[in-house]
Amino acid sequence: MYNFIDLQDTIVALATPAGSGAIGIVRLSGNQAISITNEVFQAKDLQQVDSHTIHLGYIRDEQNKIIDQALVSVFKNPHSYTKEDVIEVSCHGSRYIQQQLIELFIRKGARMAREGEFTLRAFLNGQMDLSQAEAVADLIAAESESAHQLALSQMRGGFSDQIKELRSELIHFASMIELELDFGEEDVEFANREKLQELVQQIVRIIKRLLDSFQLGNAIKHGVHTVLAGRPNAGKSTLLNALLNEERAIVSDIAGTTRDTIEEILNIQGVQYRLIDTAGIREATDQIEAIGVEKTLEQVAKSAILIYVYDQTTLSPLEAQADLQKLATADMNIIVVANKADLHSQNQAPSSLEENDTLEKVTQNLTTPYTTLSLSAKDKTQIDQLKQLLFDLVASGQLQQDSSIVSNSRHYEALQSALQSLDAVLEGLEIGISNDFLAMDIRHALNYLGEITGEISTDDLLGNIFSSFCIGK
Ligand code: GDP
Repeated sequence: MYNFIDLQDTIVALATPAGSGAIGIVRLSGNQAISITNEVFQAKDLQQVDSHTIHLGYIRDEQNKIIDQALVSVFKNPHSYTKEDVIEVSCHGSRYIQQQLIELFIRKGARMAREGEFTLRAFLNGQMDLSQAEAVADLIAAESESAHQLALSQMRGGFSDQIKELRSELIHFASMIELELDFGEEDVEFANREKLQELVQQIVRIIKRLLDSFQLGNAIKHGVHTVLAGRPNAGKSTLLNALLNEERAIVSDIAGTTRDTIEEILNIQGVQYRLIDTAGIREATDQIEAIGVEKTLEQVAKSAILIYVYDQTTLSPLEAQADLQKLATADMNIIVVANKADLHSQNQAPSSLEENDTLEKVTQNLTTPYTTLSLSAKDKTQIDQLKQLLFDLVASGQLQQDSSIVSNSRHYEALQSALQSLDAVLEGLEIGISNDFLAMDIRHALNYLGEITGEISTDDLLGNIFSSFCIGK
């Protein structure tokens, strides 16, 4: 469990990845950071230098033995990441030197930092709110442009500014109603009920929009779960290769060769898709294939997007329709791909009207949202259109206003709870419940909203959040 009683200590940790590199950075934070460094760094008196300056010199141990020649950066409180005195020692990036330096600083009075402790201190000292601190971890973990954008916008305030504002308006009403309570039986009304109702309705609208954005936020952060499914030999592996533009999945003429699932990462305009190629859906003919089929249905159920691929030269629209019925679940998007369009042109090309006709038959009765596309995976025709469809499904227009996208499941849960309490407030106003119940529901909503930004926090909550960071962050 995280310990909150020793936050006055000066802490030290490696800020760069463990292992050897060109440069390693050892970071100290706390009121002894400068004096401790001064003891081992003789080039200059660091107490006397200006904040935000860098100094070159030798670091020596107690026996005056040189550990390294290093650059020491000085950040004086409150102008640092943690708002405490911070020293960053850029040393040669050997494991040995980094280890020796950290041990030396610990002997001189620093202690090893815990997970996320630098960022925890930044939060506790008012450098950032809790959702911004969490965004620091997201930013470091971001692997695509959109995930990076999202974390960056959250780190700069994101939707938490909006929440703080609405929350403070709500606090005003809560205290007015609590004041009315003090007057007991007297018939006074300090809080205008209509205005309160308006405000709560406004907050509810905003929360609902934020909750809706979570699917996108989550997709951006973790990659959009996308499954390629269809009968054996439909051309799924070929299509996967065409999308990835390389020969990764195994393509073969024997039905059912892609027996296990293959996951590949596809990046479209900065959004990451986790593409899963599955064994074909078909009545299982042998044991291994049966496992594959089961896995297909499992994977499909978990996916946000299903790309259903069928061979339009061998499969009838009715058969394809039946496959889709088996695969479709309520909250996914479907792209129906009629593959092997090139074979038509060799024999007798159907008109695009005929093609539309067939695709219409295939998608008849489908209640899930879908789009359709006829292409040739082998000749790589219409692959860019397919990519555009994939992108539009996830990000159409929304990525531009990414400051109001929720990507953190803790925030999502807090928003859901706040919404419940606010619904109770609206219902209470409707039926005119007593002031003490009304005040209680408002307080609940305030607590949940405050948990997002950290205006309300407990040691448990903070411990949970920061213990998932790594040491040095
Ligand atoms: P999977 O079982 O669904 O993964 O199918 P594969 O990708 O292994 O393809 C099965 C066979 O169909 C292979 O011989 C492919 O070369 C062929 N194929 C795939 N896509 C096309 C296409 O668009 N046109 C033609 N003519 N053949 C294709």
